[in-house]
Amino acid sequence: MKTDFIVIGSGIAGLASALTLADYGKVLLVSKENLVSGSSRLAQGGIAAVVGENDSFRSHIEDTITAGAAYNDLSEVRFLVEHGPSAIEWLEEQGVNFDRNEQGYLLGQEAAHHARRILHITDFTGFAIVEKLAEQVRRHTNITYLENTFFLDFLVENNCCYGAQFLQWNSVINCLSRSTILATGGLGQIYQWSTNPFSATGDGIAAAFRAGAKIKDLEFIQFHPTALEYNSPVLFLLSEAIRGEGAYLVNERGVRFVQEYDSRGELSPRDIVARVIYLEQKQGRVFLDIRHKGKVFLQERFPNIYAYLLNLGFDMATDLLPVTPAAHYLCGGVVIDIYGRTNITNLFAFGEVSCSGVHGANRLASNSLLESVVFPRQLMKVVGDLPKVVEEKEFRIPEFGGTIQYSDIKKELQKIMWEKVGIVRTKEGMLSAYSQLEKWDEEMQKEQRVNKSFVELKNLVTCARLVTESALRREKSLGAHYVVDR
Ligand SMILES: Cc1cc2nc3c(=O)[nH]c(=O)nc-3n(C[C@H](O)[C@H](O)[C@H](O)COP(=O)(O)OP(=O)(O)OC[C@H]3O[C@@H](n4cnc5c(N)ncnc54)[C@H](O)[C@@H]3O)c2cc1C
Repeated sequence: MKTDFIVIGSGIAGLASALTLADYGKVLLVSKENLVSGSSRLAQGGIAAVVGENDSFRSHIEDTITAGAAYNDLSEVRFLVEHGPSAIEWLEEQGVNFDRNEQGYLLGQEAAHHARRILHITDFTGFAIVEKLAEQVRRHTNITYLENTFFLDFLVENNCCYGAQFLQWNSVINCLSRSTILATGGLGQIYQWSTNPFSATGDGIAAAFRAGAKIKDLEFIQFHPTALEYNSPVLFLLSEAIRGEGAYLVNERGVRFVQEYDSRGELSPRDIVARVIYLEQKQGRVFLDIRHKGKVFLQERFPNIYAYLLNLGFDMATDLLPVTPAAHYLCGGVVIDIYGRTNITNLFAFGEVSCSGVHGANRLASNSLLESVVFPRQLMKVVGDLPKVVEEKEFRIPEFGGTIQYSDIKKELQKIMWEKVGIVRTKEGMLSAYSQLEKWDEEMQKEQRVNKSFVELKNLVTCARLVTESALRREKSLGAHYVVDR
């Protein structure tokens, strides 16, 4: 099988990549789920960009760097922020309609932003964006999309990527291409509590690692402070926009407590709020309280969250909402330059799987949807330099099959990561996690046959091991990486 471009993943980064490349050749877009999938469709809060009157690039850059603990790559941050308005324009050209009134955009406020700069579509921004992009993809004659098709590995020889290998039902397919775009999202499922979908098993990170791609900053996992505390491994997010609109965090006695730790209170950066809640949870449960904003406002500003919660038995207008932190976003990933190029020739990466340096040690809220549009649009600047697809090249095809003997380790792995490589880390805890993960990883690498659930599990183990290794290497706390015994 051959095509000009392979795009792996159909979240916002994959869809934006496919639509950009489709002007230059045939695109094969592959997703292990449906076309509208991944974390993108779950994004509630919105997308940050400097489009308001009382805002400036400088302020957005400063906020991004403050949230990232000044570990960010300044030139990449500047690039991201300055291309925000054109990314919004491109999304609007694709049919996305952000909320507006007669004066202009209705801009939301989120923690650690010093201006109202969050464009949104009520509280289902991600879904509304990916639906529109998917509509364009379905219509585009240059794009073929394969759903329920599982990416296994890159076809790499001498540090050059010739395409990718997929599993469709019980068959393994090799596809050759001029270039391959990785957009498989994050790895939140390595943790017991996560806001990420079940599909976030780090397949892209693990395959990139196997192929020899440079990967960095995996220790910076952002934990969202406020997921609904509910009995489910994929926790429902209570968007930061709720705190942005004035919600309080209270303990079991009904007392606000975040100010005791940080004068910015509920709008402190995410890592601080997550840790403060984590500590407060040692005394009892923690709740989000937005009852004072009233039913009319809440139903209008957060219609989907309101309805979803009501379905679970919580009325935002009258009830306290039990919350817990949960693994939410991977700040590090496959290292890319400003054009999305990795260290492997003809292999690009975009979105959450990539690490351009914009997020530093912790992501500023609503910058990730922006990143997932701004960087893929860069492809049009480099597409002319890409080689033709090779006529013929043989790569080994693994046998379908494999073992299920490891299926019970997933829960154990998630628990180990939550307790030992989670919000608050100790060297001792990380070392004990590492020795178990190393053992599992080495054993599982011996199995050469492939099936989806086995490979996903193997990828989870590899990712957990890589995260732990990175965390152990960083001796001091920084941003989202918090170590207590050094
Ligand atoms: C609940 C929630 C709320 C969020 N809210 C916001 C917000 O308001 N603003 C903001 O900026 N960010 C938000 N984020 C973060 C943001 O949504 C993500 O960082 C961003 O959407 C990532 O986009 P992506 O395209 O890189 O990955 P994803 O959207 O996760 O897409 C990954 C794609 O890769 C596919 N895939 C994965 N593995 C394979 C494989 N092996 N084979 C084939 N396909 C594969 C998946 O099926 C999917 O199609 C939120 C995240 C979550 C979880």
